Amino acid sequence: MSKGTVLVTGATGFIAGHCVEELLRHGYAVRGTVRRLETADVTHLCEIADRTGGALELVEATLDDDAGWAAAVQGCVAVWHLASPNPPAAPRRVDDVVRPAVDGTRRVLAAAAAAGTVRRVVLTSSIDAVRHGHDPADRPVRTEADWSDERRSDPYPKSKVRAERAAWAFAAEKGLELVTVLPGLVLGPLQRRERTTSAEVVRLLLTHAMPAVPRLGFAVVDVRDVARAHRLAMESPGAPGNRYIVAGEHLWMGQIAAILADEYGPRGYRVPTRPMPRWLMWTVARFDRTIRLALGYVGVPALVSADKAARELGWTTRPAKESILDMADSMVRLGLVAPSRRRSTDV
Ligand code: NDP
Repeated sequence: MSKGTVLVTGATGFIAGHCVEELLRHGYAVRGTVRRLETADVTHLCEIADRTGGALELVEATLDDDAGWAAAVQGCVAVWHLASPNPPAAPRRVDDVVRPAVDGTRRVLAAAAAAGTVRRVVLTSSIDAVRHGHDPADRPVRTEADWSDERRSDPYPKSKVRAERAAWAFAAEKGLELVTVLPGLVLGPLQRRERTTSAEVVRLLLTHAMPAVPRLGFAVVDVRDVARAHRLAMESPGAPGNRYIVAGEHLWMGQIAAILADEYGPRGYRVPTRPMPRWLMWTVARFDRTIRLALGYVGVPALVSADKAARELGWTTRPAKESILDMADSMVRLGLVAPSRRRSTDV
């Protein structure tokens, strides 16, 4: 028998797909929201439902409109709110990212509060809501006690700070149980042929889209463990009212490149491993909007602590190498990347 229906917003997303799988595998029924049923790529979700024998229903709702949210939440015991713009490059206007994130969060929480059946909301925030805009010399390992200074943050971190703060304010006002999960860079297997921002680092390296590797730091976490963190946040009696950082090893992009080069170099992938000097990064950034977005983070490690999630939820994540290689393998299998040159033995 089902443990109840959980609403997963933005079910087409990379992390959301794994959340759907986590819920179905653990005996929950899932209702997922998509922007447009007619055009959404949901074959992978249907396959997961078939494989797990779980109950999956998909409904329409967008963050930009009230329509559909009341019906989406009706009868649900919990809501996992993941939908939010996560663009690979800087948006043209700040509001393109911030407005749907904040207004959408308010819409989802208002519907959850009005439904009368929702016992808890789990909101996907980000370590970007804690780590930006501080003086790096001042206590560099960030925890759930920190908030990014949104006045000194790019549009995406700004959207995560504002959406999470709006959620806490709304939950306090309505007496709604809320838990927020703050992942680092989420890697791990893709379930479908998608171009999600999470996969950009691995894609850029495997396709040799850059001649060298910028010194960017990431707190890597596996997508399957992020999905599990959402379930633990929903099920743990002591979790409401808490933020939980979920992030594992800190790796520089050069370390990710080295792992990929070891495994994929012999298979014909020209993975760059030389460090990219700052002047070259500025030059590349003139043509590449993803690199342009990264300019402000060069040399800054993403140091966060997931001790609280380990202590209170019993949460851990697998080694980063496994997540990196599983993501790369899925990209090869799905035809998203291909060897950039033939191996000498093929010639
Ligand atoms: P994806 O881009 O893969 O998924 C985002 C989802 O949000 C998609 O389903 C997308 O729908 C939906 N969405 C975006 N804008 C709207 C809108 N205006 N109305 C309705 N739906 C919308 O991202 P991720 O899976 O990586 O991210 C999921 C969540 O996790 C986000 O909240 C993100 O901020 C957070 N996060 C992600 C991290 C990562 O490394 N990936 C790290 C930390 C936090 P559609 O498919 O139609 O575009």
